[in-house]
Amino acid sequence: MAIERIQTTCVYCGVGCQMILKANDGKIVQTLPADGPGKGKLCIKGWSMHEWIQSPDRLTSPLIRNSRDEPFKEVSWDEAFDFIAERTKKIVDAYTGDAFGVLVSAKCTNEDNYVLQKLARAVLQTNNVDHCARLCHSSTVTGLAKAFGSGAMTNSIDDFDVADLFFITGSNPTEQHPLIGSRIVKAVARGKKVIVADPRDIDIAKLREVHPENVIYIRQKIGTDVALLNGLMNIIIQEGLHDEEFIKERTENFETLKEKVKEYTPSKTAEITGVAEEDLKKVAKLIGETDKVSFVFAMGITQHTTGVDNVLSVANLAMLTGNIGRPGTGVNPLRGQNNVQGACDMGGLVDVFPGYQKVADPSARAKFAEHWKVPSLSDKPGLTVVEITNNAGEQIKGMYIMGENPMITDPDINHLREAFGKLDLMIVQDIFMTETGELADVVLPSASFAERDGTFTNTERRVQRTRKVIDPPGEAKPDWWIVGEIAKRLGYDHLQYQSVDQIMDEIAELTPIYGGIVFDRLEEGTLQWPCPTKDHPGTPYLHKGQFSRGLGSFNPADYKPPYEKTDQKYPFVLNTGRVLHQYHSGTMTRRSPTLVEQGNEAFVELNPKDAEKLGVVDQEMVKVSSRRGEISLKARVSEIVDQGEIFIPFHYAEAAANALTIRALDPSSKIPEFKACACRIEKY
Ligand code: SF4
Repeated sequence: MAIERIQTTCVYCGVGCQMILKANDGKIVQTLPADGPGKGKLCIKGWSMHEWIQSPDRLTSPLIRNSRDEPFKEVSWDEAFDFIAERTKKIVDAYTGDAFGVLVSAKCTNEDNYVLQKLARAVLQTNNVDHCARLCHSSTVTGLAKAFGSGAMTNSIDDFDVADLFFITGSNPTEQHPLIGSRIVKAVARGKKVIVADPRDIDIAKLREVHPENVIYIRQKIGTDVALLNGLMNIIIQEGLHDEEFIKERTENFETLKEKVKEYTPSKTAEITGVAEEDLKKVAKLIGETDKVSFVFAMGITQHTTGVDNVLSVANLAMLTGNIGRPGTGVNPLRGQNNVQGACDMGGLVDVFPGYQKVADPSARAKFAEHWKVPSLSDKPGLTVVEITNNAGEQIKGMYIMGENPMITDPDINHLREAFGKLDLMIVQDIFMTETGELADVVLPSASFAERDGTFTNTERRVQRTRKVIDPPGEAKPDWWIVGEIAKRLGYDHLQYQSVDQIMDEIAELTPIYGGIVFDRLEEGTLQWPCPTKDHPGTPYLHKGQFSRGLGSFNPADYKPPYEKTDQKYPFVLNTGRVLHQYHSGTMTRRSPTLVEQGNEAFVELNPKDAEKLGVVDQEMVKVSSRRGEISLKARVSEIVDQGEIFIPFHYAEAAANALTIRALDPSSKIPEFKACACRIEKY
């Protein structure tokens, strides 16, 4: 068989680098970079993509069991569908509506996500449809929609090449978005400036050792972001460095903001955040005096009980200084997973249909009901990820989980295990058996991104093709096909498609921001939404001349400390996150020999002064516990973390950081506070 080289999109982070998968005799043998958002480069995760796709661990057959005490047995698709249909009908008939929770997936294609949310809404009669965006950027969507009228990254990755200054807070781009991180590193080498505000002294902050004149690092205490941002705005206004013309022409509610930030004097801000007054002044002056500032953030900002307030405060600072609606500026939340933007766009959220059309809007409901050929659709926003499992066994009797592994990625997994145990039916659909699949009644094998066609939408709203390179293993099938067959067994005939371009045509018809995005156009290039018509070129940056909501809205916020306080028993604040060589729950990266060799072991970062007090030395095993669980792992003694704070990456099932984290939620976005809970460390 001839060697084939097929271009597709990386399935890991939200940068959406393009890659060539090289196949020989039906096997993928190599990954090569292609031109795209990564500018013809890949990070180490991208380069080693081919290593896990043909793993012998791939699921190859549907699995069912009649009781959770029994082992799974391999069955045909027909048997699996009959099993699912019988049990699902029982639940739907017994508990009219809202008895199911459905998780779509930031790893699956737009088409997969569209069909699964359609199944939830049209067939299972519920808006209980959500996914891990709830756990990473729901506060971004809520906050930016309130401030600007659109919850997405405002500018493009290419804009990072023309920004004068980056204000990076709660984002570790060289590890989480390496091809964005490298652009920023190159910009600094060209003389551009960076301010890093982060509780951890991350690699990008260490650039100050090479370029001391271009890089400022400030270390705020975990969970004090609102105070920090208010304090900076206070100084900017006091110094007259705000953009009066922009504020007057393009925004509303400035006076309320001004009154609020007056309270955050440099001395009060320094006391709350731990950042010295002179550093606050230096940073504020630099932001206020620079023409094009790009505000970059990620989950260090969003994953708090004050996540929406944090995002609103970044938006306030950007508007205060006129840094919206121009190239090289903007509020740029970096999306974690390859298609978390697309899964949101496709209506994988509890209160919106595809394209953020609200379920509460009667005209939107009527439009979707007519196209989906159902008498009506629910106007009641559904339960979010954490609320679904909080209600397991009570309101929620069944769950359908596609491509997510909450037993590693969701907070307080000991509680989660109990919750899953209360379900009458748990369906998991994935490419590997996961920690979540092990608890299910049914596990369905799906095709990986390299074994089917589709689209992903990256962090900058760019819709890109993913293409079939090889056949899926065994009986594995594309997710959209599986969902369509389940719908058919449940008596619904409007979820069967011959190919993914038919699904994309339906998305375009019903979703104004995707109105001009069809497969033919994506063969010729990529498109950034909003792209309302077939002749629209797409939109590289948002809010030019006018915000999506008209005037930009200042929304002042007050500092509130993290939900769980430290005390004598639990004196450390735990921060969780990711590392360069692993991705999310590790199902793919932990099967890649190259990445495993680079680091495949859990660790807890601990400041040397704390280590000394505890008598702990570097690489020693320790026990870390919270009010919810305990794990054992190696101590990494390092000044990367401040005294009183610790950091654990969440990828590792054998020492799962989320056994410790808390289910406390931001009140409006319902994001859990992954970035702050109280812990204890003990020596063995
Ligand atoms: Fe893939 Fe992200 Fe690495 Fe690019 S930067 S190769 S998208 S993991």
